[in-house]
Amino acid sequence: PIRPRSELDAVDSVCPYCGVGCALTYYVDRSRDAIVFAEGRDQPGSQSRLCVKGRYGWDYAASPQRLTVPLIRRESSYPKGPLSADVRGDVENDRGRAGSGGERSGGGRNGSRNGKGNGKGKGRKPGGLVDYDEVLPHFREATWEEALDLVATRLKEIHASGGPGAIAGFGSAKCSNEEAYLFQKLIRAGFGTNNVDHCTRLCHASSVAALFEGIGSGAVSTTYGDVVNSDVAIITGSNATANHPVASSFFKQARRQGTTIVYVDPRAGTVSDHADIHCQIKPGTDVAFYNAIMHELIRLGLIDREFIATRTSNYDALARTVADYPPERSATICGVDADTIRQVARIWGEAKAGVIYWGMGISQHTTGTDNARCLIALCSITGNVGRPGTGLHPLRGQNNVQGASDAGLIPMFYPDYQGVDREATQRRFEDAWGTQLDPNRGLTVTEIIKSALEPGGVRGMYMLGENPFLSDPNINKVRKALSALDFLVVQDIFLTETAEFADVILPASSYLEKDGSYTNTDRRVQLGRKVMDPPGQARVDWEIVQDIARRVGLDWDYTGPSEIFDEMVELMPSYANLSYDNLGLTGKLYPNADPEHSDGLVVMFDERFNTDDGLAHLVPAEWLPAKELPDAEYPLVLNTGRLLEHWHTGSMTRRSYALDTISPVAEVYMHPKDAADRGLAHGERVRVRSRRGTIELQLRVSHREQLGNCFIPFHFREAAANLLTIDEVDPFGKIPEFKFCAVQVEALGAP
Ligand code: SF4
Repeated sequence: PIRPRSELDAVDSVCPYCGVGCALTYYVDRSRDAIVFAEGRDQPGSQSRLCVKGRYGWDYAASPQRLTVPLIRRESSYPKGPLSADVRGDVENDRGRAGSGGERSGGGRNGSRNGKGNGKGKGRKPGGLVDYDEVLPHFREATWEEALDLVATRLKEIHASGGPGAIAGFGSAKCSNEEAYLFQKLIRAGFGTNNVDHCTRLCHASSVAALFEGIGSGAVSTTYGDVVNSDVAIITGSNATANHPVASSFFKQARRQGTTIVYVDPRAGTVSDHADIHCQIKPGTDVAFYNAIMHELIRLGLIDREFIATRTSNYDALARTVADYPPERSATICGVDADTIRQVARIWGEAKAGVIYWGMGISQHTTGTDNARCLIALCSITGNVGRPGTGLHPLRGQNNVQGASDAGLIPMFYPDYQGVDREATQRRFEDAWGTQLDPNRGLTVTEIIKSALEPGGVRGMYMLGENPFLSDPNINKVRKALSALDFLVVQDIFLTETAEFADVILPASSYLEKDGSYTNTDRRVQLGRKVMDPPGQARVDWEIVQDIARRVGLDWDYTGPSEIFDEMVELMPSYANLSYDNLGLTGKLYPNADPEHSDGLVVMFDERFNTDDGLAHLVPAEWLPAKELPDAEYPLVLNTGRLLEHWHTGSMTRRSYALDTISPVAEVYMHPKDAADRGLAHGERVRVRSRRGTIELQLRVSHREQLGNCFIPFHFREAAANLLTIDEVDPFGKIPEFKFCAVQVEALGAP
């Protein structure tokens, strides 16, 4: 029976999905330890709003497929490789038969929240996920002591024989600030390497590289709610309607109050439906488009000369570069007609306050840093930074990708973006952590995968909540790298595709089962509160990390997240003055001089930027084509991304009944003429192939796509888009080119 609201336990927390970080309350029936419903609650950045993921996407935590007992791979299962038949593919070809199979064991007992076994197939079996029946027999159950001892022993052995560079760790933007902080501290202090990274490398690493270079800070200069103070907002490379739905509602609301919305994106049917102007550029042509806008602004004199003179450097070089991009020339590259480019330039140049919000359509390119450099320059030459309604805002993807980056889960920075290669900074962290640290930058996500395939490279990995087998580009290469490791420990809540490669699997806690702080895209630090206990023997992540740290010789004795947070704040000037006690129910923005009485600073850089000289450094960029262009054999451009109902590699949302019911099928979106030219009909199954792989999935004929382009969401294991993508990276941010590679789409019967 459904109990009345008055009999339910209300727990105030934060949505675990996107970087908007909506505040919500979970209502829990304690008689069966189950969430009954979720409701938005008031907070400046969400104002009681929720999208479908926040409102309905919480039942994954109660999935019978939760991991509840530590697992150790059976020796008979070597050589390692993906164990599910549907993803074995190339490894069988490359290495002979993977996973010969061990005897069936108790490792597959049906799970429940209170049960001991790792769930497999009890109740509704979600489609397109790892087949537990097939994979679990390759593992045996272990005690926590045995599993943790094995992890520490093997990582120490690899460290001793291969040196610090043989160890690497992938953390997670799904974990709290405290967990991210402890994880990077373990890799740095425990193993003496900066080889620690997380999925920021796959989303906004290029934006952060450009922002650091340009204004000395990787965080947003204003909030998305500040859009209401803007005369014009450029939203670019962002399907915010699907990926930041509540932020998108602020954009729509601002437009109703008079803000002009200019949307720049190759796809239609998204924010474009709510924009005043949609510049439907060709994929990968952002630099040409924005250089033309700046060309026109300079030609018309619609620039802020005083701001340029007093707040920026290198303007002359920028002006020389954009002089070569008159609208007529750029129009031939980006596909937006010259008159529209001029119109946008005039609207932007005449506005008193302009702001730019961008997503991964800007960042996930081999030119991602150049794309972001153009946005920084555009705001800077028109004086659109440092005042209400102006600024630069990369919409961060995961709920804690801002916080995980702030906490130092990146190979070139200690917490708060303090460079590992700066001697004074290194000394400071050595003093704080009581150990010698590596003075060299570590490897990024993509470099770690590459290194695992090289002699003398990474041999042992600790994977906390990441699933690179689906999320990284060119996953046939990823599978070879994971198979080649000497030792892999995966800490997660489900048997993910990456866990199939593991030697040890540690059952972790979901977001709902622990306390922690999370930092959203606005720089708002909020508390997520524990709703229920982890199932079976699963444990909270920071405790697992601490247990491994102790076993590798670190003298850690943290008693809880708030103590860890206090240590972070000591080392992170941006987080100064914040504490669990003063974050309150709605969190606080950083920087914040007086959190007891203030929500924090909305608009940054009103007087100076965070660069050494206080100026914004303008960096000109030349347009460069993508690394792999369409040709006769692969004539279409593939763009990958997300859907409203699903989240990244699907491990959570595909186990959420409501979300998976609304959106159960992998589809490739294609322009009607491209489909007709190939004799393909809406709804039929088709084959998509690139130089790196082939997948089969359903066709959606859609006017959202431009002629010559197609789009595939990357949530679906059974049609893994990243089998097709290219692993070329941006030279500065090291982010892969998820938004552009050449493919062909054809009927299943085609030769
Ligand atoms: Fe959650 Fe983002 Fe939706 Fe808000 S907009 S409910 S944070 S997924």
